[in-house]
Formats: sequence, C-alpha cells, structure tokens
Amino acid sequence: MLTQFLIAALFGFIIAVASYVARFLTLSGALATFFLAVIIYGIGGWQWAVPIVIFFVLSSFLSKYGRSRKELFEQVFEKSSTRDWGQVLANGGVAGLIAGLSGLFPLYDFYPLYLGALAAVTADTWGTEIGVLTKGKTISALALKSVEPGTSGGISEYGTVGGAIGAAVVALSGYPWYTELRTTLIVVVGGVAGSLIDSLLGATVQAQYTCEVCGTITERKMHCEHTTALYRGVRWIGNDVVNGMCALVGALVAWGLMLI
Ligand SMILES: [Zn+2]
Repeated sequence: MLTQFLIAALFGFIIAVASYVARFLTLSGALATFFLAVIIYGIGGWQWAVPIVIFFVLSSFLSKYGRSRKELFEQVFEKSSTRDWGQVLANGGVAGLIAGLSGLFPLYDFYPLYLGALAAVTADTWGTEIGVLTKGKTISALALKSVEPGTSGGISEYGTVGGAIGAAVVALSGYPWYTELRTTLIVVVGGVAGSLIDSLLGATVQAQYTCEVCGTITERKMHCEHTTALYRGVRWIGNDVVNGMCALVGALVAWGLMLI
C-alpha cells in the first residue's frame, strides 16, 4: 500500500511538472492535478489511472490545437486553455471522490461510475472544442434555435458526434478491467447524457455577462478592462460548477443503468 502511494506520488509529480511545462496547466492546476493523481493512482493503480490520463492528455492537446483559430472564442469563454485548479477539480473532482469511495468500500464496484464521470467531462470537452473548430450548425439546447458556435448551451452536430467519440475512447480505455461491451455502452450513454445536461445548464442557469464597453456577451467577469454586468443566469454558477454537474450526471446515469 505504501509502495503504491510512493509510485503514485512520483507518477503525479511527473504529470504535474510535464503539464505545467507544456502550459496545459497553471501552477495551481498542476498542484491540484498532483493531489488528484496521488489519490486516484494510490487507491486504484493503473486500472483507475489509465482512463483519466487518456482524458487529460487527449483533451489538453485538443484544447491547444488550432489555438489561433480559437482566439476569437477565448474572448467569450470564461477560462483559457491553460487550466487552473478550479478547472482541474471541475473535471476530475467527481472522479477523485468516486476513487475515494472505492477505497472506503472496496467490495462495491465503483468503476463504471468512475468511467461515467470521466466520459461525461471528455464528451463535454471534445464536444466544445470540436464544435468550435468545425463551425458547424449550432443550436441552443434550450430554445432549439441557431446560436453562434462557442455559445454556452450550444449543441452542434459535429460537437455531439465528437463528444460521443471521446466518451467511447475513455470507456474503451478501461475495457481490459471490466471486459463487458454492455458496460462500455452504459459508460458512453452516461457520458453523452452528462454533456447534454452540461449544455442545458449552460443555456439556462450558467452566468452570462455583457460587456458595457463593446457589447459582447461573455462568461467573463471582466472585459475591455471593465467589470461586466450580469446578463442572465445565476452569478455563482460558472463554467466550473456546470462541468462538475456534468461529471456527476455522467456517474449517476452510468450507475442507474448498471442497476437495471
Ligand atoms: Zn468588451
């Protein structure tokens, strides 16, 4: 047990430093990643470490890809592609909690819930990135009317397919440890459901602000060096809260389907 946590610390340290150097993470993001890696690898070993590393590496590269093309959207999104601690916990916090639960209750199989949480944040990340990059038709999850690509709550056809592919990659990365295609499907469904809830929350309760200087609608609290005004939604429900809900829904849907 102690040996496994020592390996976990080394493993977490390497990932945190490499991600910081590659500018995937800020310093606070690297610290949060280190602690998350120690918990997940320390409790679950490779079985639990492999899917979250797959999510993390692929999503980080996808976020960095086509950066110049996305500079326009960086003005709209609350967070940039270098992730801070809030983003790390939003994406990995639910997974970390489930890992902790599996350590406390080793007889219960929490693995599908864990994969469901990761599949959901992967589907959300891939859906957003691919939706923005492909500039396909984007509709609002709530009003079902066309909106600009990159709008919170927007769902695009390429984005949804990309999200499902991302969820499938994460689900299959754990396959050697559960070896049932039914579980793969359940995890993918959980992942897609989580990302759709994410879009729905983005279109309804997530805080949106308006810049009183240039008129842009944004997730940011500052724009054109001025404080923005609340345009709609709830002030404390930002991008991180919505992402955390996305992971939670992914885990709960996968859990419910496993019980059927
Ligand atoms: Zn502005």
